[in-house]
This record gives sequence, C-alpha cells and structure tokens, in this order.
Amino acid sequence: MKTTDHPYQLIVTLYCILPTVYRPLPTAQHPLFLTPSHVRLTFGPMERNIADLKRQFSQVFGEGGKIHVVRAPGRVNLIGEHTDYNDGFVLPVAVEPEITVVFRGRDDGKYRFASTAFPNDLDEFVIDGNIPKRPNHWSNYPRGIAHEFQQAGLTLVGIDALVINTLPVGSGLSSSAALLISSALAMLALTGLKVELPRLAILAHRAENEFIGLPCGIMDQTIIATGRAGFAMLLDCRDLSRSYVAIDPKELRIVIANTMILHSLPGGEYAERRKDCETAVAYFKTIDASVKSLRDVTIPMLEESTGKLPDRPFRRARHVVSEIARTQEAATLLGKRRYEELGEIMLQGHRSLQQDYEVSSPELDCLVEESMKVKGVYGARLTGAGLGGCIVALAQPRAVETLTLHLQKTYNEKFKKVPEIYVTSASAGASMIE
Ligand code: ADP
Ligand code: MG
Repeated sequence: MKTTDHPYQLIVTLYCILPTVYRPLPTAQHPLFLTPSHVRLTFGPMERNIADLKRQFSQVFGEGGKIHVVRAPGRVNLIGEHTDYNDGFVLPVAVEPEITVVFRGRDDGKYRFASTAFPNDLDEFVIDGNIPKRPNHWSNYPRGIAHEFQQAGLTLVGIDALVINTLPVGSGLSSSAALLISSALAMLALTGLKVELPRLAILAHRAENEFIGLPCGIMDQTIIATGRAGFAMLLDCRDLSRSYVAIDPKELRIVIANTMILHSLPGGEYAERRKDCETAVAYFKTIDASVKSLRDVTIPMLEESTGKLPDRPFRRARHVVSEIARTQEAATLLGKRRYEELGEIMLQGHRSLQQDYEVSSPELDCLVEESMKVKGVYGARLTGAGLGGCIVALAQPRAVETLTLHLQKTYNEKFKKVPEIYVTSASAGASMIE
C-alpha cells in the first residue's frame, strides 16, 4: 500500500510535521539528557510497520498462511474520575499507544497466544466449551473474552496470536481493555462473525468483571471499542449513551506523563471508596426516595447534608457530585474551544481527587504542579484510579517540547526517576488493519 493511500495519512503527516511523540530518555545520567534533538518518535501509526509485526509473528509461530493484524488503542480520561460506578459521566479519549494482535487461523481448535511483553510465556488451550482461568496470568484476558463469546453462543475457531504493544502495561492507560478488545477482534475476524462495537465493549467489560474478577466500570472498553479519531467521548455511564466532542490537533495536544509507579488503588482502598459512596447514597435516599446513585444528588442536596453525613462519605460524595458536573462542563468547554476554562476545571478535578477522594500521591501532584508552570499548558490532572499511574495535561502543540523536558528534569530531580511522556492526538477505536 502506498503511503498516500494509507487511512492514517493525515495523522502520519501530522506526525511528520510535529514530531511530538517522545521516547523518554533512559536515565537522567544519560549524556544527552535534555538535548531536544535526542527526543524522538516512539510509536503511533507512523511506527506501525506491518511487515515487521508479521516477521515477529513468524518468529514465534512459523511462516506461512494468511497473517492478519488488528489493533486497539489505549485510553486516557480527560476528566470524570470515580464517576463511572456512580452512574456519572466520563470524558475519555483513545490514544495512539496501542496493542496490535498479529494472528493466523488454525483448523485444530487450538488457541495459542503469546505476547512480546511476557516473552517465553506462550499460553495454549483448546476450545472445548470450558475455558479455565489461569491464576495470575496475562492470558486470562484472551481467555476471558473467548469465554464470553462462548457464553454468547459464538462458535470460535483455533488461532495463533502474537500480542505486540506500544501501550505500557499496568500504567493506567488501560492495556487490559485494549488487550481484551484486540483479542476479541482477532477471534471474530477468523469466525467471520460480526459483533457491534458497543456490544463488544459490554462483553469485554463482563470478561474483566467476571472472568478476570476486577470490578471496573465500562469506560475503558467503550472508548477503546468505539472511540473516533479526532474526538473525545462524553459517555453517560448510566445509560451508556455517547456523544463525541472534537479535539483539534492543531490547537490541542494531549500529553500523558507516567509516574512510573504502577497504578494500583489496592483492592481495599477501592472497595472502601465504593462503600463510602453507598453510605452517602443510603443517606440521600432518606431525604429523597428517588435517589438511586450519586448521579441523582444535586449540589444543593449535598450542601444540605453538611454535618449530617459522616465526614469521609461526605467528602467522597462531594468529589463525585462535583466531578459529574465538572465533566459535563468540560465537554461543553472543549466543544467551544474555551481551553483556559477547561484547564481550570481539570485542576479543580485534581484538587478534588487529592483532598476529597484522597487518591493522589506526591508523584502525581508533582507532575500536575510542574505541568502548570509551563507556558501554553491549559490544565493537568491525575487520570485513572490514582495512587500511581499517569497524569494528563492539555497543552498548545508548541508547548509540548518544553513541557516534556521540564517534567523529565523536575520529576527526576525529586523522585530519581524519569517519567515516560506520551504525546498524542485523539485516536480511532479498535480496528482491523489487514
Ligand atoms: P492497565 O489496564 O492500566 O494497563 P491493568 O492492571 O488493568 O493495567 O492491566 C494490566 C494487565 O493486563 C497486565 O498485568 C497483563 O495481565 C495484561 N496485559 C496488558 N497488556 C498486555 C500485553 N501487551 N501482553 C500481555 N498482557 C497484557
Ligand atoms: Mg486496566
């Protein structure tokens, strides 16, 4: 395929003009640390070399047959944190770091999955109606989606698949949902069956909740399956309705900085926050019987509850109720290109997560504060569940290089680690490449 025919031509062109996806330098001791010319492109459509992906596949599974490729993007949430399980709104974007699955059909009903992220750890099982879970194994993601397909009555066929990622694993950019969705597309491609993308998101969500056993919300699977290039998605987690808000890459760049601390709101911390939300809902139900979740609580109702609800559930509820309002407001401001106000709302969201939901950390706070010192950065906040993982900043394209270098320098000075920085535009949802 000629470059000019490539569906990603526009993005490729942008990448050429604006070389803004940066590879972090390995260490601050690197002799070229802080040398802008050393900052280089790492991933994105421009770097997706299909021939190389297929070569890697053949090294693991051998030559021959028709080899296919699917991809699924990662995601970053611009705002709307801990609102999903409270029936609220979220505003995620699909990002360019991605998972590709390179695969070929088999006619013996065997499933073999390998991943470059976990070398020499090939998973094999037979589709015989009962797909067991492997304790603490990455392959539970492809297994989980295969299980869901079987439950839904789909007849699967055998597959050899190699998972290759530019999306960091376990950094809060949803490599888990990207793996589920890309594996699903690969399996479907071989059966020739079609599942509508929103339905695929629901199946993947169920796999993550039930097969993997992680009580996450539906945001990740939805944006990864149904994201649109050049758009953020305002998702209503109550009825799953979606609307898309344009992000003009000429005006706005999404910069993600990784604390390099695996995001993990430990099970107990997550459960405690969910319980606090339930305590608050139980209280508000006594005031208004129609309240089903914090989505139904208004700011005046919340103010009325001061001193009546215990402090912690009150603060948790204050975060959720105000965050739901902020998320809707942020979508409106983004649509109107009112970036300064949007940035201010992101900062308010960060403070609320820090003080009321208590899921920030010194590392996340540092990256947010340092981002805001750079001219041309509109706003920044922690993204994902918190206590590790990443921050997201919205910046003018021309501010990106300064921002990247500033964050690498200041974060390393304080925490002796160089944060990985991913610079991205809004990418498309998962798709078949060939
Ligand atoms: P996040 O979704 O934020 O990246 P999670 O902890 O939810 O973090 O998911 C990470 C898990 O998903 C990994 O531990 C692994 O089991 C699986 N996973 C993600 N990416 C890959 C990959 N490229 N290859 C194999 N497994 C992966
Ligand atoms: Mg995940």
